[in-house]
Amino acid sequence: MNLHLPAEQTTIFEEMSLLARQHDAINLGQGFPDRDGPAEIRQAAADAIMAGPNQYPPMRGLPLLREAVATHYAQHQGLGITAENVLITSGATEALAASILSLIEPGDKVVMIEPMYDAYLPLVRQAGGVPHFITLRPPEWRLDAETLDRVIDPTTKAIVFNNPLNPAGRAFTREELSLLADVCIRNDVIVISDEVWEHIVFDGRTHVPLHGLPGMAERTIKIGSAGKIFSLTGWKVGFAIAPPPLLAAMTRMHQYLTFSTPPALQIGTAHGLTMSPSYFTGMREGFARSRDTLAKSLTAEGLTVLPSEGTYFLCIDLSASGIDMDDRSFCLKMVQEAGVAMIPLSPFYASQKEDRIVRLCFAKADELLIEAALRLGQGIMRLS
Ligand code: PMP
Ligand code: GLN
Repeated sequence: MNLHLPAEQTTIFEEMSLLARQHDAINLGQGFPDRDGPAEIRQAAADAIMAGPNQYPPMRGLPLLREAVATHYAQHQGLGITAENVLITSGATEALAASILSLIEPGDKVVMIEPMYDAYLPLVRQAGGVPHFITLRPPEWRLDAETLDRVIDPTTKAIVFNNPLNPAGRAFTREELSLLADVCIRNDVIVISDEVWEHIVFDGRTHVPLHGLPGMAERTIKIGSAGKIFSLTGWKVGFAIAPPPLLAAMTRMHQYLTFSTPPALQIGTAHGLTMSPSYFTGMREGFARSRDTLAKSLTAEGLTVLPSEGTYFLCIDLSASGIDMDDRSFCLKMVQEAGVAMIPLSPFYASQKEDRIVRLCFAKADELLIEAALRLGQGIMRLS
């Protein structure tokens, strides 16, 4: 049988979560918070389930949620959009699939920035796109004009961009985003801008949506996820913001991918998006405190951590920590012998591997983060 399937049999997230369960380890691998998001959002969804209807909602999403998404981005990011620019999808993953599968044709050049989220490459390959990579290196993970100019040219159809960047925890600066915008406009390139981590940025940063830069609204598909904003990752409610021609193409694909998304979860999400700004600042501050707890605890164990500017991930630099192992072997050893699951960064690279960095999720209770750091400290002592 000639099956047309992704190269990886199992994603790194699933693999590490399985190992965490097998070894009864603290799971700082797959990214999900250990506490569910606001009760009032869950209550709104529960009420909607009981009140009904629970039948297919409109294919493009409930008008209530599409309006709420447009209003939310106007208020929080100053975007001039309406509900006509919004498509509701089953998670950001479906928005990625709908955009990539609708816009990329066989042979199209697609630029991707590694480390890249695991879903991008299999989807681009599925569409027949030809990937070209820009490789970012730790600890800065910086985009520079020279590389952007070398890789992006008039034959480029699209770039898949992620800001803040999972797994690196990097929030790109306005200056870097302007460089990217400039090269995309000059070469007439579409940007699929995965901004699912937009609300989780730290140390006084504000998220800069690429869509808001001059000349970018007409060429940007902005993707968001309620799972990340409200600590409800299992809900899989996503949204795409795009100019009408791009949104129409995505919508045609969406109608054959999932067609629609559970109505009660859309109602809960609409409630969440209209919550007061204090929810969003409180959520950010809580994650920043957890980041600091984990960073401090790991540093006390002699591990070198990289800055985390956004997302709920923090990376350890194995070389700088004096650990002479590749990332995957280290993660396997630590989940089996120290009882801590983490994610190696090498699966997020496709062209020039980076195999000395591991990612930890800090969206967990302090006691768990402190215990995980202690276990890792003991684990690395046993390595030597
Ligand atoms: N893109 C990125 C960069 C992510 O980190 C994730 C989930 N962690 C997704 C997309 C998928 O989001 P969803 O669960 O809403 O499909
Ligand atoms: N996005 C989550 C992460 O980065 C994982 C999602 C998944 O398991 N597919 O950890």
